[in-house]
Amino acid sequence: SKVWVLKKHFEGFPKTSDFELKKIELPNLKDGELLLESVFLSVDPYMRPYSRKDMKEGDIMIGTQVARIVESKNPAFTVGTFVVAGSGWRTHFISDGKGLQLLPSSWPESLPKSLALGTVGMPGLTAYFGLLEVCKVKIGDTVLVNAAAGAVGSVVGQLAKIGGCKVVGSAGSDDKVAYLKKIGFDEAFNYKTVKSLDEALRKASPDGYDCFFDNVGGEFTSIAINQMKKYGRIAICGGISQYNDTVPQKGPYVQIPMLFKELLMEGFIVTRWNNRWEEGQKALLKWVVEGKLKYHEHVTEGFENMPMAFIGMLKGENLGKAIVKV
Ligand code: NDP
Repeated sequence: SKVWVLKKHFEGFPKTSDFELKKIELPNLKDGELLLESVFLSVDPYMRPYSRKDMKEGDIMIGTQVARIVESKNPAFTVGTFVVAGSGWRTHFISDGKGLQLLPSSWPESLPKSLALGTVGMPGLTAYFGLLEVCKVKIGDTVLVNAAAGAVGSVVGQLAKIGGCKVVGSAGSDDKVAYLKKIGFDEAFNYKTVKSLDEALRKASPDGYDCFFDNVGGEFTSIAINQMKKYGRIAICGGISQYNDTVPQKGPYVQIPMLFKELLMEGFIVTRWNNRWEEGQKALLKWVVEGKLKYHEHVTEGFENMPMAFIGMLKGENLGKAIVKV
């Protein structure tokens, strides 16, 4: 098996020299075990903060893949079946079957299986539960989402539209903005080229925002919070603008608008709804099949390009979900 190891903890922005490609020999299968081959691997923002929290130098990079079963000594799993596994950056691995997720049985043959890592996987479910359970969106709400052309953001906007909301999104290139308009966002702007973020938000929704699905954090959040409507809800989903900081950013602080507008702000991790995964996945899959939920994937070819794909995603090179095809 080929594996990518975290050679050196990231300092600031990850570099390709922080990773090392290694080969490891896999033992023969024991009874109850399976041999899996990764077909698609996911590169996700969480790998940046979690590498520091959960990994030591020399560990195999954490991550999720869609894998095909190539050998099985476990009667519950048939050779040729595709599963979602959380086995890190590896081309091949052995599993005892625990924690492997089969794709939903209603998965159409024509649909890319990589969607199980994006729109119909963890990022899609993050959008689904974040909107439903944290933002508590209702018909007629105005919803703001940043990193809107990414894996989570693009689903947030489209689900909010399905739910009868007005949707405003921001993203880091004009192509991404054009894509957001194409998939039904009411308003979209390029946060890198607007003269004033404050003005852009005001122009997109002069009456302010009922819900803010925050993927970015930092300065964006401090500015957006001032434009929340009274009793607005803010879902803190991610803080990608801060993941690569070596020195924590300082204020402005958010307490005053929180207080006078009586806002509700809640951080969440999607695994809180692990017991409702099936419900969410079924709903997302149905909307995709019906054409109500569009997807775009940014596919990098080649396992050897995983670090590049990861760094590219952190830099904003991806439109939609960043995926690596082995
Ligand atoms: P994306 O597909 O959105 O890729 C990351 C995007 O972030 C880039 O394409 C880039 O787009 C944007 N970005 C990078 N740096 C900055 C910056 N400094 N300011 C603004 N935008 C930036 O990734 P995901 O959809 O997978 O994740 C989006 C967010 O959701 C992340 O913060 C992630 O950590 C979080 N998340 C949280 C989960 C949870 O359970 N709470 C689960 C999954 C994801 P652009 O060109 O627009 O700058």
